[in-house]
Amino acid sequence: MTELAKGPHIKADLGQGFPDFEGDDAALVAARTHLGPAEGDAARARLQQYSAVSGPPSLREALAEWYAKRYADGRRIDGDKELIVCTSGTEALYVALASLLEPGDNVLVFEPAFPWYRPHVEAAGGKMVAVQLRFPGFPLPGEGELRAVFEEHRPRVVVFNTPHNPSGHVASRGEVALLARLCVEFDAFCVSDEVYEVFVFAPGQSSGKVEHLRICDEPGMWERTLTVGSASKMFSVTGWRVGWLYTGCPELLAACRALHGYITYCAPTPLQEAVKDALLDAIPRPEALPAQLPALRAAFHANASSLAACMGARFGAAGEAPDGGYFLVLDISSSGKTDFQFCEWLAKEKGVVAIPMQMFYSHDPPSNLIRLAICKSPALMAKAIAALES
Ligand code: PMP
Repeated sequence: MTELAKGPHIKADLGQGFPDFEGDDAALVAARTHLGPAEGDAARARLQQYSAVSGPPSLREALAEWYAKRYADGRRIDGDKELIVCTSGTEALYVALASLLEPGDNVLVFEPAFPWYRPHVEAAGGKMVAVQLRFPGFPLPGEGELRAVFEEHRPRVVVFNTPHNPSGHVASRGEVALLARLCVEFDAFCVSDEVYEVFVFAPGQSSGKVEHLRICDEPGMWERTLTVGSASKMFSVTGWRVGWLYTGCPELLAACRALHGYITYCAPTPLQEAVKDALLDAIPRPEALPAQLPALRAAFHANASSLAACMGARFGAAGEAPDGGYFLVLDISSSGKTDFQFCEWLAKEKGVVAIPMQMFYSHDPPSNLIRLAICKSPALMAKAIAALES
């Protein structure tokens, strides 16, 4: 699909999940300053060199403050003992897993899943146990089924991702509470991938369902959760490679810090400084959201709704706009094609790139689902819809 996406006839690449618009204003303005000439200012010249391994103290403090404002009922993160900045959320995930796993440890992963989990688990010596989630909605299995998985596999670590890539599922209070209870009961750690945490489309709605909930806030979970966050999504700067992790277990954090130091030493210093400035700009705003976020969320949700409607009307694809995240998943069974055939046909005939969902499963994948990126500008989405309707 990546090769097909480069073709001259492609009108809209809805394959890979990265924004086609500029990143957060405050972040970009700050980055220009921090990458600009030092003009004799020694402190500014220093910004072009290594930062502390854990990240600049001012960024760690800004993150602690941002989380404290956003999750007012949660514990405040200690920026010295409980958080490190990594060179991307991807590195943070690897560091978290490699710090936790002993050879042969079982790691529970819900599929469909971000395709990096399995190689990370295996590189860290672990054994991935996949639990399949089902379309539509991709909710967690109920208590009986999930408890049986814990009993059979006794996982050392559970990888949890909400809002979810690729499904856009936002975990409910019941799901988060159930998984937390089982982690405590079976003495498992949780690596909680929350890189899409600000992309929940209707937070605080009366149903109470659609808001981001952190598993680390559940009883007994602060010390056994490693939460991963990223500037990639929060500020639409996937190329900056600034992410972080935090945990209420200082020994674990120390192991992560050592590993991160040996892998990349530190994230790019000027960009860490720019992320700090962008956080400081966001903190006083409603819900501590970066300035562009409310409009972006509305645009992504509108993208998902119009894509789902168009794909349904044109090709009989079934599926609804998700509660959050960067993607829309649709069932293309009625086309009579497999996901690979459908995506190839869509790229060649309509010039629109989608991804076969088989990519997100390690075994027994369904072959009737496709993923489309909704993290795109309204202009690109209009182009995609025009192409699909042509
Ligand atoms: N987790 C998930 C679920 C993702 O989709 C991504 C990026 N696509 C990441 C982690 C990693 O994000 P980054 O490395 O850009 O911080």
